Amino acid sequence: MKIAMIGTGYVGLVSGVCFSDFGHDVVCVDRDADKIARLEKGEVPIFEPGLDVLMEKNVKAGRLNFTTDLKAGLKGAQAVFIAVGTPTRRGDGHADLSYVMAAAEDVAKAADDGVVIVTKSTVPVGTNRKVAETVAAANPSLDFDVASNPEFLREGAAIDDFMRPDRVVVGVESERATSVMSEIYRPLFLREFPIITTDLESAEMIKYAANAFLATKITFINEIAALCEKVGADVKQVSRGMGLDGRIGNKFLHAGPGYGGSCFPKDTKALARIGQEYAAPMRITEAVIEVNEATKRRMIGKLHELCGDDFNGKRVAVLGVTFKPNTDDMRDAPALTIVPALVGGGAEVRVCDPQGKREGERLLPGVSWHDDPYEAAKEADLLVLLTEWNEFRALDLSQIAEGMRSPRMADLRNVYALEDVEKAGFTAYVGIGRKTLG
Ligand code: NAD
Repeated sequence: MKIAMIGTGYVGLVSGVCFSDFGHDVVCVDRDADKIARLEKGEVPIFEPGLDVLMEKNVKAGRLNFTTDLKAGLKGAQAVFIAVGTPTRRGDGHADLSYVMAAAEDVAKAADDGVVIVTKSTVPVGTNRKVAETVAAANPSLDFDVASNPEFLREGAAIDDFMRPDRVVVGVESERATSVMSEIYRPLFLREFPIITTDLESAEMIKYAANAFLATKITFINEIAALCEKVGADVKQVSRGMGLDGRIGNKFLHAGPGYGGSCFPKDTKALARIGQEYAAPMRITEAVIEVNEATKRRMIGKLHELCGDDFNGKRVAVLGVTFKPNTDDMRDAPALTIVPALVGGGAEVRVCDPQGKREGERLLPGVSWHDDPYEAAKEADLLVLLTEWNEFRALDLSQIAEGMRSPRMADLRNVYALEDVEKAGFTAYVGIGRKTLG
């Protein structure tokens, strides 16, 4: 099967590489010439564990190519995937579909007859039909079908998620699209991963409903954590006690500084917007968005208190700024709310993140970058653990405390135990939804 993948971001590149590993012949197309030049040299432009090795293997096997030339990339392709960004549209929270529609128009002019145009980007209900209309308007003589194939991979574990998915969702309305999609996913089908075939609208809804539900679960435990702090309960014990109930499950029940990333914030906003448009308000999702913003602001309050209600002149070490570990993605990371509040309040902020510097340098002006957490914490008045990279999970706390001017810690991922922090010489500690020190 010859496949073209439009967009070589976190989703497009991983999907393209994994499809080629299934044995398909894949061409990845992007209009970012720099990205394509780097890919052609064998460089992976994003940080995603294992992607470099898998990419090299399939390039060597001759099954994976990169180009900016859409016409050449689409030649002979039986399936063209659109995996471009759908960020929040400025002003109204709606998903910005301009990249998807621009790609659809480009595809209409370059694709061969018989092609199946598959939308992998996360798009509001009705978009696949709009893609079909756009393609038909741009090239009335093209013989094509559309399919919806939302992606559920998680950055940081993307390859495993793609190769061993909980399910694959395929929205189709024609026999040709059904047979092309089954052919593409046959390797997963043979290994008995569930492939759910739906109509176009249901496939589009599944993606938003799933993401909004996960965001709700995180936000629920964050709100419970705020109450735990008031009543003297420990949210870690509470979430363990809840999560062992099979009906609830233990995933996404870790209290933290609020969700971020390239999906939950924009997808919850888009779902709320879709609800408004169809006069079926998504009240729970709307509340989730509001509570998540409040959660991030609550974190700033915690830090402020630890700094004696004044950031000015304080040296603050921040460990982790990416929205979660094992990715370099900074989109909508809680750090983008928390760090500017520190800098704006007059703190000297020293950041350490294993992969965050490339994006972070642009997004977090006024901070200094350090490769070593101990170095970042030198002479600091406060240590903030913001992203739970493995590198920060087993720090020598005594060494950190010794090097600090005033050993205080805000552990916004509940990585450390209060007793250990105290034993190491910290004089103050706050986590999320648990007892504090000092
Ligand atoms: P991204 O911003 O990392 O990548 C998008 C790429 O598309 C960029 O390289 C850009 O240059 C390219 N592009 C844009 N318009 C183009 C065009 N007309 N022709 C060729 N290339 C074009 O985005 P992403 O994070 O990979 O997300 C893509 C989609 O997948 C979004 O809808 C997102 O919601 C969805 N999604 C993302 C994730 C995730 O974890 N990142 C997970 C599931 C679904």
